[in-house]
Amino acid sequence: MSTNIDILPINQWFAFFDEPLIIAGPCSAESKEQLLQTAMELAKLKIVKIFRAGIWKPRTRPDGFEGIGKIGLEWLKEVKETTGLYTTVEVATPNHIEECLNYGIDVLWVGARTVGNPFSMQELAEALRGVDIPVMIKNPLNPDLKLWLGAIERINQVGIKKIAAIHRGFYTYNSKPYRNAPLWEIPIELKRILPSLPIITDPSHIAGNRNLLNSVAQKALDLEMQGLMIEVHYNPEKALTDAKQQITPKVFNELLSALIFRKEKGSIEFENDLHRLRSMIDEADDELIHILAKRMDLVTQIGEYKKQNNITILQIKRWNEIICMRLNKAKDLGLHKDFVKKLLEILHEESIQIQNDILNKS
Ligand code: PEP
Ligand code: MN
Repeated sequence: MSTNIDILPINQWFAFFDEPLIIAGPCSAESKEQLLQTAMELAKLKIVKIFRAGIWKPRTRPDGFEGIGKIGLEWLKEVKETTGLYTTVEVATPNHIEECLNYGIDVLWVGARTVGNPFSMQELAEALRGVDIPVMIKNPLNPDLKLWLGAIERINQVGIKKIAAIHRGFYTYNSKPYRNAPLWEIPIELKRILPSLPIITDPSHIAGNRNLLNSVAQKALDLEMQGLMIEVHYNPEKALTDAKQQITPKVFNELLSALIFRKEKGSIEFENDLHRLRSMIDEADDELIHILAKRMDLVTQIGEYKKQNNITILQIKRWNEIICMRLNKAKDLGLHKDFVKKLLEILHEESIQIQNDILNKS
């Protein structure tokens, strides 16, 4: 999979924006007081740059709270004027986009349910043609990287260059202990395909509860994600949506203080050392591949020999001896037993496969 899109880094979205970009605010706007009180607490933590709030809420059942609607945009305007925080809202239709632009919302985000629908994404993209506003695109509910990438491409194709992806976890059959399985390999692959695309992790929707927020947020930072979006409510117990996963501004501050912000780059001396050690790893891996080729060559020779002499492939006694001897050696060298055992099993499986192919060759 390859793609070629033109993306501006987060520090070019607005003045004083930097990585990691911290976005916080309630799942849903509920009242003016709730928004203002939460936002004023958040603004005191200088690190928060964007205030989030859902105005139109996609709910699973029709009887849930479906969002406060347009009046929430007026409250957000007031939040911005009072606190100086930038604002972001979820948009799912061209009409939502129009309303957000009318009320001066700074950043838009597209929710997981909408990203999964290419028709909706195309409609949103058309509504954004010629508009200069940052757009954040959540991953679709199902673990489908192409769908996520497609949504990003559609938005980019109409000229939006200030784009970020939001990783909010995926629906899987068993996602425990998370609400949505993080499947970190998917955002990592997205980063590999589009190295310039900022990825913001949403620990709230991944965790689904307050206890796991910290570990998910730390993992995101350790994986060099470019930001965090966390749901914060001045009275989480009473929240109309996602009550279990929201935290107070105070707890949010504690969470941020406990996070370790590691540096991506070190001093020149450190970088040189790292480079030297990485070259040594490259050499060691190269040797490893040569040794694997040598081992499989021997396996082939033995396979031919067994065939000529009509001997069975799997010889349990020999296999047990190999496991015992190798594990003892590995232990002496300080390697973990389980790791080496797994490796030996993979080697053994491949060796049997090779000898099986020889046996079945006419
Ligand atoms: C939200 O951010 O409140 C939301 C509805 O998220 P998602 O689209 O990830 O479910
Ligand atoms: Mn939510």
